[in-house]
Amino acid sequence: MKALTWHGKRDVRVEEVPDPAVKEPTDAVVKLTTTAICGSDLHLYELLGPFMGEGDILGHEPMGIVEEVGAEVTHIKPGDRVVIPFNIACGHCPMCDMKLFAQCETTQVRDQGMGAALFGYTRLYGEVPGAQAEYLRVPQAQFGPVKVPQGPPDERFVYLSDVLPTSWQAVRYADVPDGGTVAVFGLGPIGQMSARIAKHLGHRVIGVDGVQERLAMARRHGVEVLDASVTDDVPEAIRELTGGRGPDSVIDAVGMEAHGSPVAKLAQTVTGILPGAIAAPLMSTAGVDRLAALNQSIETVRRGGTISVVGVYGGMADPMPMLRMFDKGITLRMGQAHVKRWIDDLMPLVSDDSDPLGVMDLATHRLPLEQAPHGYEIFQKKQDGAVKILLTP
Ligand code: NAD
Ligand code: ZN
Ligand code: ZN
Repeated sequence: MKALTWHGKRDVRVEEVPDPAVKEPTDAVVKLTTTAICGSDLHLYELLGPFMGEGDILGHEPMGIVEEVGAEVTHIKPGDRVVIPFNIACGHCPMCDMKLFAQCETTQVRDQGMGAALFGYTRLYGEVPGAQAEYLRVPQAQFGPVKVPQGPPDERFVYLSDVLPTSWQAVRYADVPDGGTVAVFGLGPIGQMSARIAKHLGHRVIGVDGVQERLAMARRHGVEVLDASVTDDVPEAIRELTGGRGPDSVIDAVGMEAHGSPVAKLAQTVTGILPGAIAAPLMSTAGVDRLAALNQSIETVRRGGTISVVGVYGGMADPMPMLRMFDKGITLRMGQAHVKRWIDDLMPLVSDDSDPLGVMDLATHRLPLEQAPHGYEIFQKKQDGAVKILLTP
């Protein structure tokens, strides 16, 4: 089959690789009909090279048609249409019993000290081949895949794999009080959907980004926006919009943005040539730059407010303004989304033909899998109006 493979920093290729097969009785193989590129893939593309292996298959946002199932997989059968959560959970360990699926003890990656295995996320998360491919082997398929109805286009359901549950959790973790205001930093796919979900739940939403197409998209979904590219002091500007006090909650939907400062560039160059174990702590030397959105969130949120960090941060020793956080009495929540936990909340919304979250207005590009390298490039550089890119295997 064809798959998108990693070969080096900003070097991904579509190649012929062996077809996956059912190996365990709990496996399924799914023929993918849509698979997406995520901001999390950009971390692998740009910064996390030390953890990658040449030829690793990327991708974790797929849906398709079940091709084959192992003997213990009974809730789905060949021919079913399914969307596949990006984290791999067993559904029956103590963590899964608490619905902490991103911490599943059956699949967690003990030798890296990490949580549940993820598709397409290198040896950091279990070396499970990813989903930017024609077929996907799905471990723990007795629990993971979510059946969706035949009929509506893939765009209606594919975001259940990651973008929607991640954004739903980001809003839940933000703990916005009734009648409250939330600021969303970063209007990529995660920020867009976090903003729309917060609006859907009745909150006032202020979105921040510096990319014009992303600001325009948020605006057409009723979000008040602030253009960071022309605003000197973003926290101050948001305070002015919120009675001088700051919003009740802030969602950081940015995470590490490596490109930018000379310090960040130097750190990347150094880490790119070192083995993972040595490189990881060093990556935090890019901390000042990479924490930009988080530091702005800390400055922006009102005293006693909550910050929900949905963006991924990869450093191990980034400086945190602890006194500022302590003095303001900030609550900080974060983490990988527990995808399946939120499906019951989201399924009615994506199944509603009136499309209350506007899922049909998120993808700006649908490319054949063969053009995935071009997709990575324009998504990273935010060119050609790219917000969300879907691939057709
Ligand atoms: P993206 O890269 O498309 O979006 C990031 C956006 O942030 C861009 O539009 C960029 O212009 C903007 N930005 C950068 N610095 C900013 C700043 N200082 N202020 C305001 N905006 C700024 O990525 P995405 O797909 O939307 O993902 C966003 C983050 O969420 C990534 O870090 C990704 O890894 C993470 N993520 C987390 C989970 C989870 O389970 N927690 C799941 C999916 C994605
Ligand atoms: Zn993703
Ligand atoms: Zn489990």
